[in-house]
Amino acid sequence: MANPVILTGLRANNDLTIGNYFGGILPIVDMANTRSSEFQINMFIPDLHSFTTPIDYSTLYENIIANASLFNAAGLPLDNPNIYLYRQSFIPAHSELTWILDCFTGFGQMERMTQFKDKSSGQADVSVGLFNYPILMAADILLYGAAYVPVGDDQTQHLEFTRDIAERMNSRFGELFVVPEPVKKQHEFFGKEQGLRIMDLQNPAKKMSKSDESGKGVLFLSDNPDVAAKKIMSATTDDKANVVFDRANQPGISNLLEILALLRSASIVDTAKEFEGETRYGDFKKIVADEVKRFLTDFQHKLKNVDEAAVVKKLESSEKVMNIQANRTLQAVQRAVGLRK
Ligand code: ATP
Ligand code: MG
Repeated sequence: MANPVILTGLRANNDLTIGNYFGGILPIVDMANTRSSEFQINMFIPDLHSFTTPIDYSTLYENIIANASLFNAAGLPLDNPNIYLYRQSFIPAHSELTWILDCFTGFGQMERMTQFKDKSSGQADVSVGLFNYPILMAADILLYGAAYVPVGDDQTQHLEFTRDIAERMNSRFGELFVVPEPVKKQHEFFGKEQGLRIMDLQNPAKKMSKSDESGKGVLFLSDNPDVAAKKIMSATTDDKANVVFDRANQPGISNLLEILALLRSASIVDTAKEFEGETRYGDFKKIVADEVKRFLTDFQHKLKNVDEAAVVKKLESSEKVMNIQANRTLQAVQRAVGLRK
C-alpha cells in the first residue's frame, strides 16, 4: 500500500513577517520533515489559483522560485524523495479534472460559497475562474487521493465541498476517489489548537501582519537585521518593571518573550524562567534584539544561497512523478464518466 498523502499549497509572497514564518511556513516545513517517512507529502505551488488575476511569465517564474526558496531556506529539504514540490499548471490533469467535476456540480451549491461572495462583492469584473476556484481545489486534492489537507478557516467550506463531490461521485460510479478527512479530523491531525499569534510590537493588542501600513511594529523577514533590532528596542512595553509572561496584563513583554522562545526553539515557560526577577526592560530587550538580529542575518544568508538550479530540478522531477499519479486518477474518472472506453 502506498503511503497516505498530505497535500498543501505553498503560498508566500515577498514581504513576509516573522509571524508568517513561525505561524505559517515553519509548521509546514516541520510537518514535511517529521511525517515524510509515513506519508507522501505533496507541496504544490498554486499557479493556476493565482491566475484568476492575469500575470506575466517572468513575474510568475520569479514568484515561484522565490516561494520555493523561502521554504527551502526555512528547512524544506529538496532531496527527500517522499516530498514532492510541483507547480500546479505543470500537471494538466488539474484543469482536466476540474472541467469534469464542473459538470457534476450544481450552480446553486457553488453560489453559496462564502469566500466567492466575499471576494466578488463590489467587484466590477468577476471571472468565472474566481467562481470556479473551489472546484479546482477539489481537483488538486482528489487527483492524488490526499487524506490530509491543512485548511485555514476560510477554506473549510471548500474542503467540505471536496468531500461532498467525492462522495457523490463515488456513490454513482464506485470507489473513484479517496475522500479527504473531515475538518475536525484535519485539525486533530495537524494539532491546530496550537494556533500562534505574534503581536504587533508597537501595538501588542493587534496581530502582527504584513499588510500593516507603517511597518514599525512588524518584523519583516527582509528587514535589515539592525533595523529589526531597533524595532525590538522600541517595542511598546508597560510600567510594571517585571519581565513575566502575562498576556492579559503585560502583552508587550509577553509578546517579546514569545518571540524569543520561538527564535530559540525553547518553551515560553523556560524562557520566562530565565528572566525571573529582571526589572530592566532595556537589558531584556537587548537580548531579544540580538537574537532577532542573529536569526535574520542567518535566514537572509540561507535565502541568498538557495541553489536555484536545485529548486528547478526538484520541481521538474516531482512534476514527472505527479503527472503519472494524477493521470492515473484522471483516466479512471474519464472511464467512469464515459469519456473513455
Ligand atoms: P495580511 O495582513 O495580508 O492578512 P498576514 O500577515 O496576516 O497578512 P496571512 O497571509 O493572512 O498573513 O497569513 C499567512 C500565514 O501566516 C497564515 O498561516 C497565518 O496563520 C500566519 N500568520 C499571519 N500572521 C501571523 C502572526 N502574527 N502570528 C502567527 N502566525 C501568523
Ligand atoms: Mg491575515
